[in-house]
Amino acid sequence: MQNEKEMKFATKAIHAGLEPDPATGAIMTPIYQTSTYVQEEVGVHKGYEYSRTLNPTRHALEKNLAAIENGKFGACFGSGLAAMDCILKMFNPGDEIISTNDLYGGSYRIFTTIFQKYGIKFHFVSMHDTHEIKEKINANTKMIWVETPTNPMMNIIDIEAVSKVAKTSNCLLAVDNTFATPYLQTPLDLGADIVMHSATKYLGGHSDVVMGALIVKDEKLAKEIYRIQNSSGAVCGPQDSFLVLRGIKTLHLRVQRHCENGKTIANFLKNHPKVDNVYWPGLESHPNHEVAKKQMRDFGGMVSFTLKGNKLADALNVVKKVEIFALAESLGGVESLIGHPATMTHAAIPKEKREKTGVVDSLIRLSVGVEDAEDLIEDLKNALN
Ligand SMILES: *Cc1c(COP(=O)(O)O)cnc(C)c1O
Repeated sequence: MQNEKEMKFATKAIHAGLEPDPATGAIMTPIYQTSTYVQEEVGVHKGYEYSRTLNPTRHALEKNLAAIENGKFGACFGSGLAAMDCILKMFNPGDEIISTNDLYGGSYRIFTTIFQKYGIKFHFVSMHDTHEIKEKINANTKMIWVETPTNPMMNIIDIEAVSKVAKTSNCLLAVDNTFATPYLQTPLDLGADIVMHSATKYLGGHSDVVMGALIVKDEKLAKEIYRIQNSSGAVCGPQDSFLVLRGIKTLHLRVQRHCENGKTIANFLKNHPKVDNVYWPGLESHPNHEVAKKQMRDFGGMVSFTLKGNKLADALNVVKKVEIFALAESLGGVESLIGHPATMTHAAIPKEKREKTGVVDSLIRLSVGVEDAEDLIEDLKNALN
């Protein structure tokens, strides 16, 4: 097969890292539901010894992910947070990490309630531009953590600009690429060192698996990640690896439709009399629209909005009244979901802190699915009236 580096996205998504099963010719990577592998004699084996260390189904997925993120090495975990846990275990007491202040609630929680007590110091800053990052950088800074688009405010952080700061300060740049997916944005091409995914979301794409992934280019960094993956053991199983491999084969098709529907719904909401602000990076009125255009191929299916009057009860009423949109946490599946960040995903963040970043009581977040846009709009229309 031609060099994977020269293939375009969809071809890589469907083929990279995958070979017909050597034993049977099966075109789909088998679910190698096994913990161990028979050795011919001590130390003589086919590359697999024990499934915590390496499993063929997981290995195929790790290679596939590395290819679609334009990286060299992939590592998969039992959840997105397990992938973050692996990154954070690279650091030592006294090390400092600068993170965006508008981020996934679970990321905030692992930083502040788990790793802070092991002596790692976290700073949460606005990354609207790089000046707050520069203010916090010192000799102990080891990593900058970026999530873009951010959850749930859909702010766009200029990855290339932040990577320049990281390079001059000799620290790593990690990007949570869950919302964008590699189809829309490849942070390693923009100077990031580590890409993290909650594969639970768009990569899996069918709301049937919880998984996380890391992708890097640098071999030394990859070795450290594999060492921690094997030593801490938060790996995903072969069945889940199979499901995500299967999901990735249609990632480009699904994300195209997520983007189209996201655009239709953002425009509908923008013109609705009861809606106050609409947050979708594809709108020209979005404050970071130009950065989004520069670093993303399209603008995704995540749309947030607030209601005029900003009443909690009104927002709760909307999320209760929708029928096609399902009231649920998570995102990125084929079905549309609706959520209320202040009481759901961001309940762990203190009220004052969340309101400062825009997560007000009437904020509603949509994960726009791949259904017919007309039906989704009808559903929202009824719920808003
Ligand atoms: C869901 C999510 C995570 C956490 O991933 P899990 O698979 O739920 O552990 C991290 N970052 C973002 C942006 C997410 O949406």
